[in-house]
Amino acid sequence: MRSLLMHSPVVIAAGWIGTYLLITLLPLLLLLIYPPPADRGFWIEFSVALGFIALAMMALQFALTARINRIEASYGVDIILQFHRYISLVAFTLVLVHPLILFVVQPETLQLLNFPVAPWRARMAVMGTLALIVLVVTTIWRQQLKIPYEPWRTSHGILAVLSVALGLGHAIGVGNYLGLFWKAVLWTGIAVLALWLLVYVRLVKPWFMLKKPYLVEEVRPERGDVWTLALRPLGHKGFRFQPGQFAWITLDISPFRMREHPFSMSSDGDNSERIEFSIKALGDFTNTIKDVAPGTKAFLDGPYGVFTTERYEDSAGFVLITGGIGITPMMSMLLTAAKRKDDRPYVLIYASKKWDDITFREELDELKDKLDLKIIHVLKEPPEDWTGEKGYVDKELLERYIPKRRGTRQYFICASPKMMDQVELALHRLRVPATNIHMEHFNLV
Ligand SMILES: Cc1cc2nc3c(=O)[nH]c(=O)nc-3n(C[C@H](O)[C@H](O)[C@H](O)COP(=O)(O)OP(=O)(O)OC[C@H]3O[C@@H](n4cnc5c(N)ncnc54)[C@H](O)[C@@H]3O)c2cc1C
Repeated sequence: MRSLLMHSPVVIAAGWIGTYLLITLLPLLLLLIYPPPADRGFWIEFSVALGFIALAMMALQFALTARINRIEASYGVDIILQFHRYISLVAFTLVLVHPLILFVVQPETLQLLNFPVAPWRARMAVMGTLALIVLVVTTIWRQQLKIPYEPWRTSHGILAVLSVALGLGHAIGVGNYLGLFWKAVLWTGIAVLALWLLVYVRLVKPWFMLKKPYLVEEVRPERGDVWTLALRPLGHKGFRFQPGQFAWITLDISPFRMREHPFSMSSDGDNSERIEFSIKALGDFTNTIKDVAPGTKAFLDGPYGVFTTERYEDSAGFVLITGGIGITPMMSMLLTAAKRKDDRPYVLIYASKKWDDITFREELDELKDKLDLKIIHVLKEPPEDWTGEKGYVDKELLERYIPKRRGTRQYFICASPKMMDQVELALHRLRVPATNIHMEHFNLV
């Protein structure tokens, strides 16, 4: 019983939150336990405490983005990245408030901003803060500033390392607290952890990927300007995945180059010998898929994600709501269910622009023979003789197809951000329990 409780997802997720809080607050706790240097007053100690908490939070950002399977499996990438974004704004605010308090309480410290004559510890603080400002601005306004994803990702990593390293250098330079042996040990520990995570992401993970290559076996066109890329493991067993999960793909270049893209698997989860991804041609990388030659080497980092029917084995059935390329995880869920002879009811509400654009239209039709599957196509630009659903997936449309006993099903949504927001709101209004609604966002950043 005790062991069951220890392995419950809720307990594990709560455990990670506890660990996070402990690591961020540990420097503060130590600071409180140990008598601070005399005569500095409350506000100065408070400002220093904010600086330490911000530094610990920034160091832990490396753990949040290292794609550690155990953490990721508790929350899903969406939630972790959302947390990463919010927490970085909190840390950023603390970094700014930390010197502001000093400037108000001890106006003479303003001289530390005089860069040419300021001591190194102050210069490091200024440079670290500037790096953080550039990092935050280029992230929040990346699209408005028209910064492409790849250069942004590289600069994001460099600025993050710079701001944490300079922050730590500043803290060591000031030395009031770190001079104490065991506090120096604590901070060295946090710095080593951040450094290890960096080495793990940049070197260890790509090295493991390099050992398990895949070969492109087929590239086939689908309706809706989508290309299915079929991969076969080369000299290893591949991986089993839960239908609906995704992986990061590196094509034709070394995984050390860190130019990878996330895609949901569209094939059935039990066939690790042939893993398929269906990719819509939308940008620099996705436009090249159609030209990938069979035999090209590929590397996969995965599987990731909690957007899967497999986590809800006791559900009486499923409602899958999708638009456009959001069909890929749903396709995997349906193919896997058909293969496992799942007899529970599935409802697929699938929004597309035109009848001819519907990716997997024929394949889905065939699945109706193997599954208790009801498909509702919703067309934005229907043909003249169309008698089916048209327009948007709204509350009225959903009400016509979801069961009266809302809580008996699990609801999965994957579509454009706007459609996902509207469908989520409509489901809330239809009194679908929030815990039964699951979403996968394709636009992580
Ligand atoms: C969990 C998940 C599952 C996905 N599954 C599918 C799928 O099954 N089929 C499909 O067609 N698309 C899927 N996508 C979307 C796909 O990853 C992006 O469309 C693709 O990476 C865009 O690359 P691009 O260079 O062609 O486009 P660009 O025009 O260069 O970029 C368009 C936008 O895509 C995002 N993006 C670009 N490069 C990356 C990258 N390396 N990593 C993360 N995001 C990036 C950025 O927000 C960028 O602004 C999925 C995304 C996620 C997060």
